[in-house]
Amino acid sequence: MAYNLTEEQENQEIVRRYRELLKHAKPYIKEGDTKIIKKAFHTAVDAHKEMRRKSGEPYIFHPIAVAQIAVEEIGLGPTSIVAALLHDVVEDTPITLEEIEKGFGKKVAMIIDGLTKISGGHNVESQQAENFRKMVLTLSEDVRVILVKLADRLHNMRTLGSMPRHKQLKIASETIYFYAPLAHRLGLYAIKTELEDLYLKYAEPESYQAIQEKLSKTAAERTRNIREFIRPVQAKLRDMHLEFKIKGRSKSVYSIWKKMNAQQIPFEEVYDLLAVRIIVEADKEQEKTHCWNIYSVITDFYRPKPDRLRDWISNPKSNGYESLHSTVMNDAGDTGKWVEVQIRTTRMDEIAEKGYAAHWKYKDKDDAKSGLDEWIGQVSELLSQHKEGDSAVEFIQDFRTNLFNKEIFVFTPTGDAKVLPTGGTVLDFAFDLHTQVGLHCTGAYVNHKVVPKNHKLKNGDQIKVLTSDTEEPTKEWYEYVSTSKARKKIKDFLNEKRRNIAGKGEKITVQKFGIDFGKYNRRELLFYLNKESLLDVYYEIGQGEFDEKVLIELKEYGIEKLLERKANQEEEVSKRAKELNKKALLVGETQEEVDYVLASCCNPIHGDDVLGYVTADGALEIHKTKCERATELMANYGYRVVKAKWNESVSYDFDVTIKVIGTDRRGFITDVSAEISKLDLNITCMKAETKTGIIEDTFTVSLNSSQLLDKLLDNLRKVPQVITVERVDDKKEKKKKRAKK
Ligand code: MN
Repeated sequence: MAYNLTEEQENQEIVRRYRELLKHAKPYIKEGDTKIIKKAFHTAVDAHKEMRRKSGEPYIFHPIAVAQIAVEEIGLGPTSIVAALLHDVVEDTPITLEEIEKGFGKKVAMIIDGLTKISGGHNVESQQAENFRKMVLTLSEDVRVILVKLADRLHNMRTLGSMPRHKQLKIASETIYFYAPLAHRLGLYAIKTELEDLYLKYAEPESYQAIQEKLSKTAAERTRNIREFIRPVQAKLRDMHLEFKIKGRSKSVYSIWKKMNAQQIPFEEVYDLLAVRIIVEADKEQEKTHCWNIYSVITDFYRPKPDRLRDWISNPKSNGYESLHSTVMNDAGDTGKWVEVQIRTTRMDEIAEKGYAAHWKYKDKDDAKSGLDEWIGQVSELLSQHKEGDSAVEFIQDFRTNLFNKEIFVFTPTGDAKVLPTGGTVLDFAFDLHTQVGLHCTGAYVNHKVVPKNHKLKNGDQIKVLTSDTEEPTKEWYEYVSTSKARKKIKDFLNEKRRNIAGKGEKITVQKFGIDFGKYNRRELLFYLNKESLLDVYYEIGQGEFDEKVLIELKEYGIEKLLERKANQEEEVSKRAKELNKKALLVGETQEEVDYVLASCCNPIHGDDVLGYVTADGALEIHKTKCERATELMANYGYRVVKAKWNESVSYDFDVTIKVIGTDRRGFITDVSAEISKLDLNITCMKAETKTGIIEDTFTVSLNSSQLLDKLLDNLRKVPQVITVERVDDKKEKKKKRAKK
């Protein structure tokens, strides 16, 4: 949309938007608050006077919009409105934090400080992660920092259209990696959903459009179905004299897309597109009864899916969410479609929509610690486990895996409940009980059956841990746990053990080889040995894993000579690397041909939508735009991302691994192979496995375009009795990087 207003119209528009903000703020503010809000507004207008947004609009539109979101969509009060209006002032204008504190008080200054990016500093690993961390640090002090930040991010995502493509990708990635889960965690469902949809709109525009179109094409039919579905229910609830509202809605674009991807199914097969929410008015004492009564009415008319009943009323989620969920079959019409039904009270609904702020509004002063309080407590605990100077990227990874996960309830043999993240294992549970139990855990009885220590626990499991004095952690144990607590204990143990072995190694170095590493230049030495620390070297020597020849040479020739030899060898290697076919890809704004490597996490092939990422050692990695690892990289190191496009005029062969799963029958493999040879493709490697009536056929083929690949996948899906067909490298465990000690 082109922006053209005269100066006068512009000023009128600014005032109009400000009045609109005040109108919405009214229920949340007291008499005297307007004065300080007005002051903040004038300060911001003045400070941003000369600035424009990318769209051409006056910059001040943005802080006003952020304040508006904070009020209208999160339900925040005057302090947050003031902070939202001023949120970009310290970062982008000459106004200082001290001035803010003087004019608006300590609290506002603290919030704005939390929102102001850490500037400069090229010595940090990732600016983006440092900024995330700074925000998280303030979270335990005042959660409003994050809430205003979410309002800011939401407005930036809504207006992302005017940004250049690489910025869109960077901002969208940060959003899906960090802000959407954060909004979810704080119970802001509406904002979370919108952030996810906007992410998809910019990260995968084609998929987004396609789903959007299909949704609008089927909208009329859905409305009709919902109306029919609720008609009998409505009548019955009125008979019962309940005061209620029924809202029909469809799944979000993002959640449909995710389901299609996870299950490799087309849009038409996403079964629970329809969702209905029933919101009932109820006194505190009658909430539960009313909700279950409504459930009972629904199931009088419709058949519930047995495993889909979720009672978040008796067991609220730790972000404060309460609701009763069920999925029922709508076989009133002829289609027989599943409908998700959510039943909740007005109070529960407000908490679900506005999260944190509403939660505090309803909370009694003497209520026990709420789930959110507890969560913020966990944030503080995690912060205390990461010392300053530790990597911010690692901290954010830990934050994500531990504090965004959904959780399960499990029990000790005596019936004590413990909360673990989804995916939590026997070993996580053991470490949660006691460090010593964790360190010696060999497995457990889960519901009276013996299971190994990496067994994943489910809601309601009862666990009796088994231990042995001789058992102790190995590096593999990292793969068995998902809580940061357990990971830290394993790390402590292994580090301690490592130090002991390294001590032995140091002795050997001195006594057996007569070498004193203390006399060498540390950096040169580590560079030559290709190790990260002296501890690593000593450890390998102590462990007997170090090549003794290297030590003997070091003694004999001296390090200078050896370094020279190493340099010559490396030059040789890099020359060879340049022979790589570099014509296949065009990189950057100027579309240069450069050397690159294809990322092993997503194995992009010619024709895939890709981007380039410059690694720490200067290599250029090519990822698919939708690769999860790439999303994570962009969220943390956006400045290293470069544009990349395939060169249409060059063809290039790529290996792609495909897994076909089907019900076992004679001739299945032959049929699969036939499809491959029909397209004139060569199989380089094939493996078939049969287990209990299911056959898994995994093979690698050489291809030169993604179109050809799509065709092959399509054809394979048509082979009789095929269940799924997928590209294996799409799903490679991103967990792998954790395995690094
Ligand atoms: Mn902003």
